[in-house]
Amino acid sequence: MAGRDVTSVAVTGARTVRRQAPEALVERLEGATLGPAGRIGKFLLVPLDDGADTLVIHLRMSGQLLLTAPEWPLARHTHAVLGLSDQRELRFVDPRTFGELFVAPTPVAALAHLGPDPLSAGWSAAVLRRALAGRKGRLKLLLMDQRFVAGIGNIYSDEALFEAGLRFDRPAGSLDPGEVTRLHRAVRSTLREAVAHRGSTLSDAQYVDLFGAPGDYQSRHRVYGREGAPCPRCGGPVRRVSLGGRSTFLCETCQP
Ligand SMILES: [Zn+2]
Repeated sequence: MAGRDVTSVAVTGARTVRRQAPEALVERLEGATLGPAGRIGKFLLVPLDDGADTLVIHLRMSGQLLLTAPEWPLARHTHAVLGLSDQRELRFVDPRTFGELFVAPTPVAALAHLGPDPLSAGWSAAVLRRALAGRKGRLKLLLMDQRFVAGIGNIYSDEALFEAGLRFDRPAGSLDPGEVTRLHRAVRSTLREAVAHRGSTLSDAQYVDLFGAPGDYQSRHRVYGREGAPCPRCGGPVRRVSLGGRSTFLCETCQP
């Protein structure tokens, strides 16, 4: 998309643009040049023109961002369509309508609450150690708290904790320096591997990439969604427990 101009904008989903009037978003986007897309946590960031403004996109539960030929049939639940100067269209499809688009000045004030992105250069093991010190909450819930560190959800917290050999319900402040180093390394390697495999598409088939193709990291999950299957490290059964109304998967032998 980078370097393309936006030639037309249509917003039809009532909830898709909700932080500002849809007309304001349309007015700012029409004629804008898209810059190279970036990301912080789970938010996609597309700089506009000279970067003074940013188009912010969050897919939430079921959003899809698709780059298509204009003659492709419009999927149900298509809530926004950006016509681009290379004759393609950028479409936002979202059956459950939790996803959103908005435009804001750079840096985006609405994202100021986010913690560091774990793949950013500044997120070192020392930074993580200081952030964990004294925290009494359960480790997994803290990892999923976007104010603590931005970008880790239910799947990747389970996978990273397995990789680090740590239980989800450890008091976050109880990790020794060696455990913090393992966790730091595991979070980064898990996210890097997941990105390299273009993400996880679960049985609901909601997540697809820009070209409509599913990711394939789900076939590499070590514990997530594998209740009863053998742990890839020790062969014991993967367990599922409930935490905060959502499933947590772990090996109780490898994550004592
Ligand atoms: Zn195991």
